[in-house]
Amino acid sequence: MLYEIRGISLTPDQDPGLLRSLAAKKAGLDPSAIRKLWIRRRSIDARRGRVSLVYALGLEVVDSRPRGEAFPIPEPEPDHFLRGEGLLSGPIVVVGAGPCGLMAAHTLAEEGYPVLLLERGCRMGERDIHTNGFLSGGSLDPDSNVLFGEGGAGAYSDGKLTARNRDIAGRRALELLMRYGAGEEIGYDAKPHIGTDRLKGVISALTDGIQSLGGRVLFGAKLTGILEAGGEIASLSFQWKGQTETLQPGAVVLATGHSARDTYRMLHSLGVPLMPKPFAVGARIEHHQSMVDGVQYGAYAGHPRLGAAEYALTARGGDRGVYTFCMCPGGQVIPSVSDPGLLCVNGMSYHARDGENANSALIVQVSPKDYPPGPLGGVVFQEEMERRAYNVTNSYAAPTQRVEDFLRRRPTRRLGAVKPTYPLGHAFCSLDDVLPDYVCRSLREALPYLGRKLRGFDSPDAVFTGVESRTSAPVRILRNDDGTSPYAHNLYPAGEGSGYAGGIVSAGADGIRAARKIMARFASSSRGFTGKAASFIMMARGRG
Ligand SMILES: Cc1cc2nc3c(=O)[nH]c(=O)nc-3n(C[C@H](O)[C@H](O)[C@H](O)COP(=O)(O)OP(=O)(O)OC[C@H]3O[C@@H](n4cnc5c(N)ncnc54)[C@H](O)[C@@H]3O)c2cc1C
Repeated sequence: MLYEIRGISLTPDQDPGLLRSLAAKKAGLDPSAIRKLWIRRRSIDARRGRVSLVYALGLEVVDSRPRGEAFPIPEPEPDHFLRGEGLLSGPIVVVGAGPCGLMAAHTLAEEGYPVLLLERGCRMGERDIHTNGFLSGGSLDPDSNVLFGEGGAGAYSDGKLTARNRDIAGRRALELLMRYGAGEEIGYDAKPHIGTDRLKGVISALTDGIQSLGGRVLFGAKLTGILEAGGEIASLSFQWKGQTETLQPGAVVLATGHSARDTYRMLHSLGVPLMPKPFAVGARIEHHQSMVDGVQYGAYAGHPRLGAAEYALTARGGDRGVYTFCMCPGGQVIPSVSDPGLLCVNGMSYHARDGENANSALIVQVSPKDYPPGPLGGVVFQEEMERRAYNVTNSYAAPTQRVEDFLRRRPTRRLGAVKPTYPLGHAFCSLDDVLPDYVCRSLREALPYLGRKLRGFDSPDAVFTGVESRTSAPVRILRNDDGTSPYAHNLYPAGEGSGYAGGIVSAGADGIRAARKIMARFASSSRGFTGKAASFIMMARGRG
């Protein structure tokens, strides 16, 4: 019989080897009655000045009944999904190899569906060469960079794998990441992260997995057009190896992320229904990680069982919400750009999270009433801000301002104790030159309050690097309850770019949902395909 024991706490200094005896005591069992013990959840509780690791444990018990606080673990919900009988008229084309597209393609390939995954960027090795070249001052490749390429926008990230929605698709997304090497901790840690270094390996293994299941993956393949006829996508064009290829898809999963502005514009010009959606903008803020550790963990700051401390803060600034987002402990700020002449930033960290600074976006909610009119008003709003940021020095040197200078409305002349980690140079200026005035006003109002919530957050030498403009999609690609676009019955917008996810796991889960909706409608047979579609799928099958 399986039981869960909740609320077992250890101080960071206590040996996790104690968990068995503590669990037995709480369950009213002799330790020898526990055949198997495992961690079901683990979190850090640093409230009220006390720091502990809090566990929920699973127990397999033999020949005894717990007399204490033990909760029977129910059988896992069966993971049923429907299989349809519709005939596919071509392969299922998944566009975009970010978490959404990769997990959609894997789900389909695993069930024997004919899948062709198109990704405009490169495989990880080549992508790393282009991206690291850019991060060291080289030129930007608009199709192979921090945002585009195998793994999508999450590849150069903190690798936070938080799954807010633990429905079946969310759990499947985490399981896939674990299967391809993410480590079992992501299944039980309250705030799992693996860092960019480990995440890249997991992503590449996932791509290999798709290929070994018979899916075909083309890198350097950019979707450039779709042709609708009779309410279906009748053909789709993409550029690959200098040629334009056209084929008839059975269904299309559109998982192109929130930075594929050319793709948004192509969809809009064709009449695919889109609408602007709210998101948030601001700047990255950096502090010494040791300051954050000290405030959060007190005497346990720097303890190896705790790792680098995190924070998540919210406030009001006038009538707008202000909050920290995508905090990267021990991380660095990077240019997160795909378009020449535009500049925005984001954060990433390695598994060890051992950099000197903590960084986080500090952002203010914006909504369609702040944008120019039209479905793509939010994209134009982002571009204007990013252009202003680039134009400060006509380069990728990022607008930089100390917090004290920002609060006193003066440009920064000299850095203080906190040295910003952004790699392409600092353009000392005032954030007021690049961000909308209402955003700066809200940030100024919120900072002192946030400084009371996390002592030191508003310290004079904390540094802003801007602009943080791509916190989530500014557009929603509308879809019906069955997951299809009102534009075409076989077009499935999914993931962050379509406005239905925000983060690696949630985008992956949305891809899995899209795949299952397709499977609920179609049978997996690829017999009867002709022309290009057949040859792409045959090539994959032959290799597999
Ligand atoms: C620097 C950074 C750090 C982040 N840190 C985290 C984090 O720690 N944890 C977290 O959960 N989330 C993080 N995020 C957010 C996360 O990366 C995204 O939510 C997630 O990647 C969205 O997945 P997606 O598959 O929907 O889109 P994307 O990951 O954006 O993938 C879209 C893919 O589509 C491709 N594409 C675009 N247009 C075309 C086209 N026309 N033809 C073919 N291919 C195309 C792109 O090249 C890209 O690879 C971070 C994002 C960034 C930028």
